[in-house]
Amino acid sequence: STVFVTGANGFIAQNLVSKLLEKGHKVIGQVRSGEKGTQLAKIVNNENFSYVVVPVIEAKNAFDKPLKDHPEVETFYHTASPVRFSDEDVENQTLIPAINGTKYVLQSIKDYAPQLKHFVYTSSAGALVDFNNLSIVNEESWSPITYEQAKGSGVGAYVGSKKFAEQEVWKFRDEYKPKFSVVTVLPSFVLGPNAYVADLKNLTSTGATFSKYINAKTREELEDMLQFPSGVDIRDVVNAHVFAAENELANGKRLVCHSGTYNADLVLTILNEKFPGKTNLKPSEQSSSQVPDVIDNKATKALLGEFISIEQSITDAIDQLVKNGVF
Ligand code: NDP
Repeated sequence: STVFVTGANGFIAQNLVSKLLEKGHKVIGQVRSGEKGTQLAKIVNNENFSYVVVPVIEAKNAFDKPLKDHPEVETFYHTASPVRFSDEDVENQTLIPAINGTKYVLQSIKDYAPQLKHFVYTSSAGALVDFNNLSIVNEESWSPITYEQAKGSGVGAYVGSKKFAEQEVWKFRDEYKPKFSVVTVLPSFVLGPNAYVADLKNLTSTGATFSKYINAKTREELEDMLQFPSGVDIRDVVNAHVFAAENELANGKRLVCHSGTYNADLVLTILNEKFPGKTNLKPSEQSSSQVPDVIDNKATKALLGEFISIEQSITDAIDQLVKNGVF
């Protein structure tokens, strides 16, 4: 069947597109410019992939035409959202594209995609966790952040953008009771090897993580990069998105994709033991501190099974970079 993916050139979306094509779907990816579309089509290199350009997703009716043009779309993945933590102009550049982007995408679907069977929104574990009071959260939790607080900082805006955009999804479901299934996927920090190796140097978002780890010259630099050391493997995140549209049990669920927490010593131990010569930094002698794991996603694991370990995920990501001559 035909699947639509917004933000198709993003790190998570590229991996999802690869899996959907492998499964025999036709994929229409939305990107923000023709240049990004050409670049992505070259990487994907598959005749079942095509792209549409929608430069401003938060504009009302922006998705009317792509949906009118493609009445064959059965599954719609909405992954596009600003992954930015800058304190600059957060309302216009982080909150509004995420929230209105989601609201209007759903409006266009309601108006022009009566055939749709599944809608899947990529939310974030940030929509669950209370960063000021690290208590255990699960599939039913919501970050307590308010819109006013979200406007106050770049990180707050990102968290708020995911929370309020996801709430638009559930509001739509409750209000319109659509015939299609509605599922949200909430990953923690996404790690692991990329589906496409053509452009490993230019991966975006958390896909660029390991190049940075390997290049860290001091432990402090590495610690600084581990601001959110709670992770999950990209392959599991992709599987959750696929499951969301394939399995009836997913309808109405929030799938929380999270494997565990990690720290600089784990990264350094893996680098030293498995990739000798790739770093001059050593893990510390004493057992180092580990942030508490506050995400309880038993309900999601009951549906999806166990997640790939963080150690495996980090190892496979670095291995891919090494094998492809990036390091
Ligand atoms: P990327 O930055 O790689 O991808 C983001 C995608 O969204 C790109 O296609 C990007 O397009 C698009 N986008 C960004 N800003 C805007 C905007 N203002 N208007 C329209 N489109 C925009 O990030 P990820 O792949 O990591 O993120 C994909 C989704 O997953 C996001 O919704 C993110 O919140 C979520 N997520 C990611 C996690 C992670 O650890 N990576 C964890 C939890 C959730 P362009 O290339 O044109 O900028």
